[in-house]
Amino acid sequence: MTRSTRIAFIGLGNMGAPMALNLHRAGFSVTAFDLSTEALARVRSEGVATTDTVRAAVDGAGIVISMLPNSRHVESLFLGTEGLLTQLPQGALIIDCSTIAPASARRVADAARERGIDMIDAPVSGGTAGAAAGTLTFIVGGSEAALAKGRPALDAMGKNIFHMGESGAGQVAKLCNNMALGVIMAVTGEALALGVSQGLDPARLSQMIAVSTGRSWATEVCNPWPGVLDNAPSSRGYSGGFGNDLMLKDLGLAVDAAMSAGATVPLGELARNLYSLNQRAGRGGLDFSSVIQLFTAEIASGKGT
Ligand code: NAD
Repeated sequence: MTRSTRIAFIGLGNMGAPMALNLHRAGFSVTAFDLSTEALARVRSEGVATTDTVRAAVDGAGIVISMLPNSRHVESLFLGTEGLLTQLPQGALIIDCSTIAPASARRVADAARERGIDMIDAPVSGGTAGAAAGTLTFIVGGSEAALAKGRPALDAMGKNIFHMGESGAGQVAKLCNNMALGVIMAVTGEALALGVSQGLDPARLSQMIAVSTGRSWATEVCNPWPGVLDNAPSSRGYSGGFGNDLMLKDLGLAVDAAMSAGATVPLGELARNLYSLNQRAGRGGLDFSSVIQLFTAEIASGKGT
């Protein structure tokens, strides 16, 4: 693949828009499409070419990158009589960066292979900040050859690429990471709430944990207690981070994957229920660290620190 290979970018949301922009800035020829006219206008104002239909975006493209909400969107984009697989030429490459079910990723990859089209699943870690800065981590499933074709484009949007195995392996690995993250965030909130209920200062407790065996990203970077870390979503009303509902989606996918493999994920199941309760409490759109509010009346009433 060279920089003259046309890239069709489908899905210009919180993640897709900055990713498409980074490809454009790196000199790739990008044609973008989204169902939302606002999303299209946003990238167009930064110089990215856009189209009114998905078929027009894909016309003449050697690579299609998708960044869509979930499995249903990805399967309906590529599969079926109207799906893009019927339009793409042999030798084209699909890079799906959405977080979806591993089984869905395998279904699309199998159907693509039958038509001589390559596909890699390449879900990302790094959030909207990583997407904007071009520092995402891509967690890849698919063949070495397909990854080699897509690597220059991935390099323009991220700084780490982990090849985890065949199709679907990238999605499995992403779900494993997010299941661990969801559990760790919930227990970090529980621990801080316990400490405060016993009279401890949440900032001092966090500083201690950050250099002790309970340390984690949840304490050191995305601390759920408001005011402990200035840059954490908790300190700006839980806005602008990784949404509770996205975490809930990923935990659901992890639990489903475990059931289909006969594996047990008791803490993942428990965490899925906690984020579901947090959604029901009206915090689905807030950063997932707001799960701490299940444990603290103090924060809910605005007496955080
Ligand atoms: P988003 O909801 O902001 O964006 C999704 C975009 O897809 C929307 O603009 C929507 O209009 C568009 N869309 C939906 N169906 C479409 C179709 N058929 N054709 C064209 N466009 C279509 O979501 P996001 O935050 O950008 O997340 C995208 C994916 O990345 C999800 O799978 C999410 O789990 C994953 N992810 C998100 C984050 C994050 O921090 N937001 C981090 C890592 C991974």
